Amino acid sequence: MTAPALRWAGVAKRFDGVVALDGVSLDVPAGQFVALVGPSGSGKSTLLRTANRLVEPESGRIELDGADVAVEPAPLLRRRIGYVFQEIGLFPHLSVAENIVLPARVAGRSAPDVAELLALVDLPAEVAPRRPDALSGGQRQRVGVARALSTGARLMLMDEPFGALDPVTRDALATAVRALHDRLGLTTVMVTHDMAEALLLADRVVVLAKGRIVADAAPATLLAGEAGAEAAALVAVPR
Ligand code: ADP
Ligand code: MG
Repeated sequence: MTAPALRWAGVAKRFDGVVALDGVSLDVPAGQFVALVGPSGSGKSTLLRTANRLVEPESGRIELDGADVAVEPAPLLRRRIGYVFQEIGLFPHLSVAENIVLPARVAGRSAPDVAELLALVDLPAEVAPRRPDALSGGQRQRVGVARALSTGARLMLMDEPFGALDPVTRDALATAVRALHDRLGLTTVMVTHDMAEALLLADRVVVLAKGRIVADAAPATLLAGEAGAEAAALVAVPR
């Protein structure tokens, strides 16, 4: 049996006594696209951040391709994980191209092909020499995705990556991310507060509440109301 691309096993975390994760266990098989949803403060960001060790859990275990992430030095680990978040944090004084190659340079690796990475996220090569502030918000997020791909990572963790964008740009980008996931055979875990986006994009929707998984189902199962009351409440369309 092959190990899952990512496994959380009984992961718990408190911040100053406040429970953020209350024993989360979740296996993500290679190639799956998981949407992680749930109310604000339910632990979604904390869960993602335990995988790349931006947050150290107080108990439990996290495995990447079957290996304990606590054993690998964090910088090496982070090269194998693409991380995209809302405030993408491009360096304003660097060009788009310099921003994209930065992770590889920091890692002491040969520069990735910027034009190829830009093409993957549907950006024209002309944007390469520009500064981030000369781009639209949607274009900047695409650069963020290109940068996350620049180390050759096969696992993408995305924390409300399109939350700051207008609905049209957001839809276009979400669709592009799913296409990229399929084309590159990535494994993706994406936090979103948009249930419609989760249902449309993901293979599997995992619902967190108060640091626990309260539902874990395919979109069709959720829509059919067969994934439990807490999930049903989240899926319910206001009328
Ligand atoms: P979500 O992403 O679902 O909104 P978070 O994972 O950010 O939730 O937060 C879960 C809980 O942990 C919340 O109560 C939050 O206030 C708390 N928390 C998260 N990060 C920190 C931190 N660095 N310091 C203190 N409390 C934190
Ligand atoms: Mg969050």
